[in-house]
Amino acid sequence: MSEKQICTRVAPSPTGDPHVGTAYQALFNYAFAKGRGGRFILRIEDTDQARSTAESEQAILESLHWLGLQWDEGPDVGGPHGPYRQSERTEIYREHVHRLLAAGNAYRCFCTRERLDTLRGRQGADTGYDRLCRNLAADESQRRAEAGEPFVVRMKIPLAGECVFTDLLRGEIRKDWASVDDQVLLKSDGFPTYHLANVIDDHLMGVTHVIRGEEWLNSVPKHVQLYDHFGWQKPVFCHLPLLRNNDPNKTKLSKRKNPTSIRYYRRAGYLPEALLNFLGMMGWLMPNGEEKFTVADMVANLKLEDISLGGPVFDQDKLRWLNARYIRENYNAAGLCGLLEAWALNREMYQRIIPLVQPRLERLADWGHLTAPFFADEVPLPAEDLPIKGLDGVRTAEILQLVVWRLEQQRDFTAPALDALLRETAEKLALKLRQLLAPLFVALSGRTAWTPLFDSMAILGSDLVRMRLRRAIEVLGGVSAKRQKELDKEYTRLFGRRD
Ligand code: GLU
Repeated sequence: MSEKQICTRVAPSPTGDPHVGTAYQALFNYAFAKGRGGRFILRIEDTDQARSTAESEQAILESLHWLGLQWDEGPDVGGPHGPYRQSERTEIYREHVHRLLAAGNAYRCFCTRERLDTLRGRQGADTGYDRLCRNLAADESQRRAEAGEPFVVRMKIPLAGECVFTDLLRGEIRKDWASVDDQVLLKSDGFPTYHLANVIDDHLMGVTHVIRGEEWLNSVPKHVQLYDHFGWQKPVFCHLPLLRNNDPNKTKLSKRKNPTSIRYYRRAGYLPEALLNFLGMMGWLMPNGEEKFTVADMVANLKLEDISLGGPVFDQDKLRWLNARYIRENYNAAGLCGLLEAWALNREMYQRIIPLVQPRLERLADWGHLTAPFFADEVPLPAEDLPIKGLDGVRTAEILQLVVWRLEQQRDFTAPALDALLRETAEKLALKLRQLLAPLFVALSGRTAWTPLFDSMAILGSDLVRMRLRRAIEVLGGVSAKRQKELDKEYTRLFGRRD
């Protein structure tokens, strides 16, 4: 039998800012495939219609390109296994679901949302569906579907025994089938769920190695069963360790604590090759122990078995240290000049900033002072200017915390959207808009007067804004753990539940 060509993929969902975790997975998938003469695919998993946006997809592609990663097949470059956007493949999924239904490996479920909610309430969040519709006679199921009753399609999970599969880094893993739900494969809107689309695409695209984040490990039994239902050969599964915050409990890297958007690292002046090198160090080391290495070095040396599972910490200090080495060691003065031109002196940035600065320029020389906050990572924070008029530092920190939480939930980071959001926030907190905006000016620019706030925030971007606000909260003394809980309640009462 001839060896199948190695093929890997990265499969981001375009539901937000391009995440460093996506770049991390892309890098390992790329390096592994390229070290073995294989293919590397980028696939867009946009089955969540409500949350996926074209803008997010664009930002993901752009950010991965900025990092210097390239794929052989993808929505922007095409390829023989397209389309590479799941929303354009719904016919393929439906046809496969029909196959499962015809073979008795899946069934229509007509249960209403109310019924499912009641079940969930009764059985606890973990165990889901009681499989009521699994026993519907085929002709009744057909009749109800034809009569127009809404339904989802669920896969049949074995009722007893255990699922045994191998993860390349963890060895054999066993899971009782009794703990696995009859997963929904096709939603009532005719769109597939992640599980169905992911397995079908990996198979049809010839993916031999599924290298992805650890958070998907629990889904493997469902995927394994789908491969079996279809009679397909399973890929090698390799779940990369989750990136961690640099905190005592090494919690999962989250935007609550760290900037996680690739765009932030670009804006804050990190070099793509340094960021990639840093991501390569997450769970892996060059055989010679050298910490500074290129993607080509990684391609030549990466063996998946060498990846270590001890949660890799996304340590900002280490990243900064590595970035500094690149700036010092890889660039002469002319090179650095080019780098700065591309980063700061580029027309796109100028065009966005000039309209804000021009009305405030008395001499061209004011440019530097007025625009400095746009070209910085952190800004100096004068603690005495932060507290809101009439309130103390403790309450100001709490209010900033509420604002950070609101911004975390905010997808539209344009000036009008931010304007509306902060107006509403001030109103609900019984503050004058001016009172709420004053500490934001200070936290974001390091001074009391700056260019117009909403436009400036839009230019900085969500991660940089939240990072500076988090620093201001720290400068004000932070919010105690006890108060965090109360604040969380206050937030829910005023603005609704957070994701
Ligand atoms: N769309 C999934 C994600 O964004 C992909 C998971 C996988 O690689 O299977 O994480």
